[in-house]
Amino acid sequence: RTIVFPDTEQYVTLVVDLHTHSVFSDGHVWPKIRVAEALRDGLDALAITEHLEYQPHRLDIPHPDRNRAYDDAKAAGRNSELIVIRGSEITRNAPAGHVNAVFLDDANKLLKVDNPPSNPGDVSGYSTAARKWPAQKAIEAANAQDAFLFWNHPWWTRQQRDGVTRMNAFHADNAKNGLLHGIEIANGSTYSEEAFQVALDYGLALIGVSDVHDLIDWDYQPHNGGHRPVTLVFAEEKSAGAIKRALFANRTVVWFRNLLIGRVEQLLPLLEASLNISNLSYRPQTSVAEVTITNISDANFELRYVGDYTFMYSADRIRIPAHEAITLLVKPGDTLDRVALEFVVENALFAPGEHPSINLSVSR
Ligand SMILES: [Zn+2]
Ligand SMILES: [Zn+2]
Repeated sequence: RTIVFPDTEQYVTLVVDLHTHSVFSDGHVWPKIRVAEALRDGLDALAITEHLEYQPHRLDIPHPDRNRAYDDAKAAGRNSELIVIRGSEITRNAPAGHVNAVFLDDANKLLKVDNPPSNPGDVSGYSTAARKWPAQKAIEAANAQDAFLFWNHPWWTRQQRDGVTRMNAFHADNAKNGLLHGIEIANGSTYSEEAFQVALDYGLALIGVSDVHDLIDWDYQPHNGGHRPVTLVFAEEKSAGAIKRALFANRTVVWFRNLLIGRVEQLLPLLEASLNISNLSYRPQTSVAEVTITNISDANFELRYVGDYTFMYSADRIRIPAHEAITLLVKPGDTLDRVALEFVVENALFAPGEHPSINLSVSR
């Protein structure tokens, strides 16, 4: 069930989930379980991003220190290769909505609660008091720590009735001033084309997350071939610093329900690394060519051929399952020394509704 994508020619490909919850806010598992799930999924990095202002388990788990979930996860992952990133979810109503800040030094500085209710079990009273501190102050406090900030689920129907992401003045100003750096385009089971367009329009990093509150196994059924949404990060090396630099440089591709979504500059190198064509030969006494296309990634590729040749085993649509190879019989008309095939990759997007094409060529 580990999530596997190949490195590109230039970068190592890291699998990252930057938005999860534990009992320290409104999740239902201990941080150690998040770490165990991340290891099972083969993640390279994980952030547990608790709501700073909303703690429904206050009566049972009072934790004035907002770094506790990180500290516990960090300890749980200490004998593994998993990179645990300190993060928090700034939680307000629209227009700020929810914003994650990751690579923090101290989460407590993003929260200021004047006049909290005297009853520690008063969850909504506490939340109301905590949300009075302006969202912009929390955004600035996170930026003072050089954190990476992204707008969470901007299409969330509880705050956006029609489910359509629209840029607003709050986030547009922060994006222009360098205080907002990314935007979720996939969260849990939902994707937003409009958020994708906002990311392209405002130069924001494309982020895909699980936002898991329960169990990854329940929500995504990896034993049945499912996977959590993740952000593939193209980094110089596997380290926290390199991930942070890559995020600030927008070097990401989102993997959501078998869709690979990214800017052309990141998407094409990933597709080229994932698919490989080889073994050009000709059937005896014919000019019918046989080639092998190998997929070394977790994506099930859906390709549509757009060239002039025709095939013998299929029409123009070809499916190459994850980590499998297929044989294609092509009729180039002659025993060519080199055969080039152009495909549209239907399970990839470089802009809303726009699928990239790749050229696979093989020589004898
Ligand atoms: Zn949220
Ligand atoms: Zn969340």
